[in-house]
Amino acid sequence: MNLKHYIESRHTDSDTTRPLINPFSQQAFGSMPTASTDQIDTAISAAHRAFKGWSESTKAIRAQYLKGIAEGFRARQEALANSIVVSVGKPIVEARLDVEDAIACYEYYAGLLDTNCLGNELPEAVEGTGYGAIKHYAPVGVVGLIVPWNFPTVTTAWKLAPALAAGCTVILKPSEISPWPESILADICDDIQLPKGVLNIVFGEAEVGQYLVDSPKVDKVSFTGSTRVGQKIMAASAPTLKNLSLELGGKSSLIVCADADIDEAAQLAANGIFFNAGQMCSATSRVHVHTSLYEPFLVALKNKVAALSLGDPLLESTDMGPLSCAMQFDKVSSYFAQAKQEGLSCLIGGQVKEGFFVSPTVYENVPTSSVLWNEEIFGPVLCVAPYSTLDEAIAKSNDSEFGLAGSVVAKDKATALDIANQLRAGVIWINTDQIVLPQLSWGGFGQSGIGRELGINGLHSFTELKHIIVEMPSSGS
Ligand code: NAD
Repeated sequence: MNLKHYIESRHTDSDTTRPLINPFSQQAFGSMPTASTDQIDTAISAAHRAFKGWSESTKAIRAQYLKGIAEGFRARQEALANSIVVSVGKPIVEARLDVEDAIACYEYYAGLLDTNCLGNELPEAVEGTGYGAIKHYAPVGVVGLIVPWNFPTVTTAWKLAPALAAGCTVILKPSEISPWPESILADICDDIQLPKGVLNIVFGEAEVGQYLVDSPKVDKVSFTGSTRVGQKIMAASAPTLKNLSLELGGKSSLIVCADADIDEAAQLAANGIFFNAGQMCSATSRVHVHTSLYEPFLVALKNKVAALSLGDPLLESTDMGPLSCAMQFDKVSSYFAQAKQEGLSCLIGGQVKEGFFVSPTVYENVPTSSVLWNEEIFGPVLCVAPYSTLDEAIAKSNDSEFGLAGSVVAKDKATALDIANQLRAGVIWINTDQIVLPQLSWGGFGQSGIGRELGINGLHSFTELKHIIVEMPSSGS
């Protein structure tokens, strides 16, 4: 499996390569080329050459190509899911969901192009002024998309589908951990004969992303990844005043109310942190439980965690695979050492295992001063603490530099809604798992990022709003 860049519809190598490691077997299964600056410049130039034709193509034509990508994904669903498992170690059942989510996203944006989502063709009167205006969401230009490894194909779809729908041309830089699933896009583009240069894929590490950010010829960068790198990108974007979208880290809360069903609450808490081995920006890694339920909740949660099966991620019976790579394993393991140093009480887990596996872990009665309570661990590590009043739970939830997501478990719907309204986060789930719908929005407050993906906002983030003003006397004058 020796991957190639995809530049102006050509599949090209580089002199420098990096091995691809399967985190379950820890064996190399192929290599990824690292793009040279000349190759990145060629990709940027190709995107510029393609821009006029693509941005002036009709919405119907762009919708056809998006549907073609969705069909290409559907035709390769199992191969894609396998490539995700082998690359990042997530269970096959979850990998299949990733591919479905990506398909839904391409189809959603294809459908959106049937509406007037990009403005009006004819001027509309601006009442009482004698003028009218055509409102036009113009494509922002050539865009760089930089993505992480935790939801391969999904994070890319959230950016690529609206960027292409808006009429932008693209240079995609996948994560160095998960380039294989992303590379399959190139084959799909060949199959559907996407015009040359509309999508270019360059592989590499931080330097390749950095080059796209620094380039004055890239009009926008849409980045998903860590807050630390997001901060670097924002600083590096200042000289070119680059249009930026940043989807960053999180430390989200789940609040279990006094009237909650204990079993349901424990299940939602487990799902919110152990899906994808906790390697989710929206993981609900801090759980606040009303004191009246605290002890029985811990018993129910411990039973659910003990029942999780760890193992070969290609098996359908596996609930949790290994962490995605050595770096992730080292990072998560370091938090176990930190917990020991802090003297935290470990309800279950807290151990490193063979390979890149760590045990699903719950610390209980965690104080708000704990490093584990405050930092994004990005692994299967949950902190639980009791609370006495809802005001206390809401204040503790909002006491975070992040503000991506949140969950509330309660029987009383009015109370749940009241809590949701007070949480400082972009997405809140009430009595449900982490449902993400392409029709809605995704993004956070504070250091969880800037802007929103998905929905109409995700489309408009790849546009600049333009008004063309004309004289338009009102019908009575
Ligand atoms: P990361 O920030 O290390 O890397 C993300 C991407 O940026 C990779 O492609 C990487 O090569 C590239 N990169 C690294 N340094 C760069 C630089 N200086 N300039 C330009 N590009 C650079 O993140 P990761 O480890 O791949 O992913 C995990 C992080 O992503 C977590 O913090 C998680 O919360 C976040 N995440 C957020 C969302 C969201 O929607 N908010 C979704 C998924 C992941």
